Amino acid sequence: MFEQVPTLLETLFLGKSIPRRAAIARYVRPGLIERIQLAEFRGTVQRVAAHSAFYRERFAAAGIDPRRVRHPRDLGDFFTTSADLRARDTAEFVCAPPQAGFETTGTTAKNKRIYFSNEEVHDIGFEGAVGLWNLGLRPGDRVVDAFDYAFWNAGITLMHSLNALGCFHMIGSKLEPAEFYRRVKDYRFNVLVVDTAWLVSLTEIAEREGAWPVKFILSGSENMSEATRAWIQSVWGGKVYLAYGQTETLGASGIECPAQRGYHLNEFNFLFEILHPNPDGYGELVCSTLTRKVMPLVRYRSNDITRFLDEPCGCLLQHMRRIDKIQGRGDEIVSCGMGMISPWIFETWLGGEPAVADDWQVAVRQPAARDVIEVRMELRPGGDSATAEVEARLLRRFEALYPYYAKNLHMGMFELQLRVFPRGTLRGSAQAGQAAGSRRKLRRVVDERIAGAALPQR
Ligand SMILES: [Zn+2]
Repeated sequence: MFEQVPTLLETLFLGKSIPRRAAIARYVRPGLIERIQLAEFRGTVQRVAAHSAFYRERFAAAGIDPRRVRHPRDLGDFFTTSADLRARDTAEFVCAPPQAGFETTGTTAKNKRIYFSNEEVHDIGFEGAVGLWNLGLRPGDRVVDAFDYAFWNAGITLMHSLNALGCFHMIGSKLEPAEFYRRVKDYRFNVLVVDTAWLVSLTEIAEREGAWPVKFILSGSENMSEATRAWIQSVWGGKVYLAYGQTETLGASGIECPAQRGYHLNEFNFLFEILHPNPDGYGELVCSTLTRKVMPLVRYRSNDITRFLDEPCGCLLQHMRRIDKIQGRGDEIVSCGMGMISPWIFETWLGGEPAVADDWQVAVRQPAARDVIEVRMELRPGGDSATAEVEARLLRRFEALYPYYAKNLHMGMFELQLRVFPRGTLRGSAQAGQAAGSRRKLRRVVDERIAGAALPQR
């Protein structure tokens, strides 16, 4: 049942040639895409109802008859959430034997595990190749990536994209930016595929010691302010493009085009919705997998706030809808130079230091190109006289608890600043981000880049 079956879209339009696929994409009409998506959506709903213990149980509890579901709206307020993926055994979502697995990074005590077949990994990489072609990548280009390959999908899917295009490719993996620069410089790679925060450190080195000519740099995993993008482009003399994705969607479900205005969505593999849009169209991005056989997800809430963009861009993928840059997260999980961070990380860290009082808050700021993680805390009586010792203990504890984040800190992907506030002031201070909701509840993690200088310019 789960052998390699070409999807309807592939049968109708697409061959194995990336240039042909990119050329044909220009003529695919949105109405046709939607009809095919809905046919595949119905298939996905029936598949999970037949094979996934989680969906069978949840559909029954919600009174949903999968045979009657024609459109996402027929599911009412039924969604799959990040909490579902953590709370339930991954096996309850799996509809066919998995061959590849990846994890999301540590925003809570338990990472989400997402499983695929090798064919699915290959196919997502293959679709990604069309987006790279659209950015100008050609078989003669020389590509290096600096992705962390541990448990993460980004590098693997990139490899499949580059195999499809036939580019020369080397894996730099996530080396220290200085070492990467030293070892990579002579190769004259003209395309770099890297993490946003890591790229800032590499660019500082290149600005000091000299950049080599690049065609473009593709960067993912966090938003980049337009000011930072302009600086990086000026140092390297090439365009910087951004991609959008989550491990749940196996990496890039959206990629910018030469217009650098929003991410074209991978509508061949996913059906996207914007949940509860405000008058400006901003709401939470929700996606359903269409072609997934191993671990399909129905109406998965991304927790990312964005909107569909209407104005034409004129590129090859112009009929693939675009979403705007991510404006923020639906909860307190923030993607930044440190990684994906959530209150849990800081509760574990600060909660283990007896001198730190219960009132603390972590703000992500971006005064310049690099994210600053500002830890605002109050100390318990007696702690005030030994601030330096408390801070030293906290830094040692941070390194011991979170080697992954400590490594990002040492690579210059973010700055960590500890600030002690007088007791009783944090909860009442304007800085504590009380704008939304009760003054009595202190938001633990606030993203001040969104309201500040790093707001995407338009
Ligand atoms: Zn475009």
